[in-house]
Amino acid sequence: MPPAFPLVGNLVQQARLAAACDADRMHHAYLFEGPDGVGKATFAHWLARYANCESTARPCGACRSCHLMQSGTHPDLIVVLPDPEKATRTITVDQVHELMRALQLQRHSARRRFVLLDPADALNEPSANALLKTLEEPPLHTQFLLITARVASLLPTIRSRCQRVRFGPVDEPLLSAWLEARGAPPHLSRTSGGSPGFAIRLAEGEADERRAVRDALTAAVGQPLGKLFAFTEAEGKKEEGTSRAELVVDILEELLRDAACLAQGRAPLHQDAEALVRRWSAALWPGGIGRMTDNLSRARDRLRLNVNGRVVLEALLGQLNLELSAAPSR
Ligand SMILES: [Zn+2]
Repeated sequence: MPPAFPLVGNLVQQARLAAACDADRMHHAYLFEGPDGVGKATFAHWLARYANCESTARPCGACRSCHLMQSGTHPDLIVVLPDPEKATRTITVDQVHELMRALQLQRHSARRRFVLLDPADALNEPSANALLKTLEEPPLHTQFLLITARVASLLPTIRSRCQRVRFGPVDEPLLSAWLEARGAPPHLSRTSGGSPGFAIRLAEGEADERRAVRDALTAAVGQPLGKLFAFTEAEGKKEEGTSRAELVVDILEELLRDAACLAQGRAPLHQDAEALVRRWSAALWPGGIGRMTDNLSRARDRLRLNVNGRVVLEALLGQLNLELSAAPSR
């Protein structure tokens, strides 16, 4: 009987990795790539438990190995996360050196030692370069799992040393049924773009927050600069760091995607901002939407570099207003 896989969707990927593990034919380094919230890290942890469980129905969740791994205290499961001391999301060269020292030691008790880098795009150039050699010739019985939603941000030398496993968004009917079984609104399968993790977060209240931001945003766009700046100032200040500004960028992207859908005769994802989406669709398709998509990706880069959220939003919404005002009225 096949094992009970932990993720909804992406069954082929899960089955392939479990089979490679059963046959003891795992590649020494895998790159798990795919959108946020589809379960890449969940599956990586599951695979470590599956490979090392001491019971027959693996992973049993009850043996010593499973127990230690679940509590995060198994010495042969090494999870490297971004350095919490750094303002930007970075896995530092010091962390990689520390990892290499740990890998020189013998395994404790695991059949197979697992190293998870989550997310691998947090490696900067020095830390990625420090990792290369180990990634190429890892110690015996050591398994690297690199996790990323931004595969293009990884050095090509890192990518080429890994076997790539692509996790995709989950099909809508499958995710709807899965959400329904958990008492969550099934329509979130659509809103979440096929991401179970995101859908669950939406179900747990993010929906209200996003709606509030979207309402404030749609009210501010197209208004005189004074009102626009009041919005960006309020949003740029909320919460710590740049996460709030990132949320505004996400919402803008969703609205633009909806405008593009509408222009191509497809149904938009969100029904509740229909008037605005219709207006944008008429005014911006196709050139304006293309330019705004580029602007969004630049805004994300700047937020990642820790540029002030208000500054980034002002530039972005200023560009949007220009596009809207330059469009011929129909
Ligand atoms: Zn077990």
